[in-house]
Amino acid sequence: MLSLWRRHERKCPKRSKGRNWIKCQCPIWCDGDIDGKRVRQSMNTRDWARATRNLARIEDPAYGLRECAQPGCTELVARGRCPRHTRAISAAIESYHSAHQDASWGTRTSRKATLRNLEAFLVGRGTATVDQVDLEALNAFRSVRGIGARTWTKELGTLRHFFRFCLDNEWILRSWADKVQMPKNLKPADREPYEPNEVAKIIAACDAIGRSAYERLRARAMVLLLRYTALRISDVAALEKDRVRNGEIFVRTTKNGKPVRLPVHAALQAALDILPIPRGAGNDAQCRYFFWSGNGGTQAAIRDARRTLEAVYAASGVEGACSHRFRHTLATEILEMGGTFEEAADILGDTEAIVRKHYAKWSVGRQARISDLLARIWHAKKCGVQVQENQSDKVVDLVRFELTTSSMPWKRAPNCATGPRTCLLSIS
Ligand SMILES: [Zn+2]
Ligand SMILES: [Zn+2]
Repeated sequence: MLSLWRRHERKCPKRSKGRNWIKCQCPIWCDGDIDGKRVRQSMNTRDWARATRNLARIEDPAYGLRECAQPGCTELVARGRCPRHTRAISAAIESYHSAHQDASWGTRTSRKATLRNLEAFLVGRGTATVDQVDLEALNAFRSVRGIGARTWTKELGTLRHFFRFCLDNEWILRSWADKVQMPKNLKPADREPYEPNEVAKIIAACDAIGRSAYERLRARAMVLLLRYTALRISDVAALEKDRVRNGEIFVRTTKNGKPVRLPVHAALQAALDILPIPRGAGNDAQCRYFFWSGNGGTQAAIRDARRTLEAVYAASGVEGACSHRFRHTLATEILEMGGTFEEAADILGDTEAIVRKHYAKWSVGRQARISDLLARIWHAKKCGVQVQENQSDKVVDLVRFELTTSSMPWKRAPNCATGPRTCLLSIS
């Protein structure tokens, strides 16, 4: 127990009244013992109220402190969160990047750019830690980003990922980024597939670039790889020779472990056969790659490939030519020839959902297959079923359209004489 008293100054007229006289303005001291230990010290103030508060803090170190805002944490703090349960924005971003360093180079680069912008914005607002970021701050961030809805969709995806990471680390209580509205009804970027004559122009342009046959032969092989395998340019630039074998090219392994091999088109095989050894690989015919010497990083190889192809596209005169359109071209061909979304997805290395989203309109064989399939099912059931064509243009998804007994009335009463002669099937 400590008690306060005034240590009267020499000039204090009430000095003779002793230490219990407190109605003057002399310095305040405390005296007493805590846990059996003598304490006698100045309170560094002449203000009685302040001295009382300071005294409470000396007697009980937890005075005025509260528990950390993270549920379950008993750490006492003056306000907010304990050091374990919060992070400065820059520290949180750094941890996020180091926890996700296995993402592809492109993904990491765009995440870094997005979070760099976020950090600059938040620091400008005087926000210090991630738990101080609220919905209003994030909406304000959106309004200062001078970017289109499509780019914002990507950035918001990164923000959500980042704040969920903070949530998982218990640095914040909820992820406000999840509450920021994602732009709706975005039409997928309409990159048309190439017309056959455009492909011919691009291939012809391979002979019109560069200073020597070296560049031209490489350009031709790259273009034909894009054309016939729909590989991404990053995969083409570092393509290993042993992936082409016995007239087949190994494109990728799907997520569920199936290898995807495509037949090598004769023109592509011919172009690969006469490829010069990559510069920088010496005279080493053992170079493992078609286009890359194997020295240095793949980034430089990808950059070189990009430059070569940009020269080709410029020389071709095809409007809007780019490497990515070759992927659209092959995907639409697959679908137009009756391939499924799953097959197109396997070849492109995209998810089926992405392929469905981007290429639904190209799948002309799809409606015919749906009608044919259901007609065959119903024929086998010996039931006169009339399939009414779906009038709306709504995309009907065969895979997700589950045949349930409620949509198949004959199943309920297979032998019923008064069973429906005609079943109208409406798919919505
Ligand atoms: Zn006094
Ligand atoms: Zn805590």
